Amino acid sequence: MSKRKNPDTSSIAYRHFVDNPRYGREPQWSSWTPPHEMAVHEVDKASRIPGTAIPVDPSLYQGRIIRRTPGYYLDCSCNCTSCKRPFIFFAAEQKYWFETLGFHADARAVRCAECRKIVKASQEVQSRYVELSHLEPRRPEQDLEWLELYCALPGIKSSALPEQVLNRLAKLPEIDSARLEECRRILKP
Ligand SMILES: [Zn+2]
Repeated sequence: MSKRKNPDTSSIAYRHFVDNPRYGREPQWSSWTPPHEMAVHEVDKASRIPGTAIPVDPSLYQGRIIRRTPGYYLDCSCNCTSCKRPFIFFAAEQKYWFETLGFHADARAVRCAECRKIVKASQEVQSRYVELSHLEPRRPEQDLEWLELYCALPGIKSSALPEQVLNRLAKLPEIDSARLEECRRILKP
């Protein structure tokens, strides 16, 4: 195994990388580079960052369908498919994905941490919208939440007419008029 010094210039080289709240934006230098390609988990080969290797726990790969058990993970630099900015798919993150979460060995981080968060939030909004859409009858507060989610999800279709829901809510004194006005503004053709 070859030792590698942490490059002093790393902060500059990686300053335009998207920050990951858990791991940061710069490589996590371990001073280790695996002795040969075959020892490394098969994430993007071209973008592996030398000197960031951490060992695999082979016992956590037992019984899994995988061509070979890798010896190491390495930090990899990737480009986000959503925002196109560079980010690091960290060795520690790979270890967590493949060993703790049991993700398939082919799994890759395609989005940066910021975009992953946005996608997750949008999925949560959509599933809450679907949940409220099937709720019958809804309380006024749930009606308002449904309307706000409808307004937040561009291009979504609804069998209920949002204008009717809005007019129904406008008659209720307990409904927050500022929130309702915001929905009216968005729904305006
Ligand atoms: Zn991104």
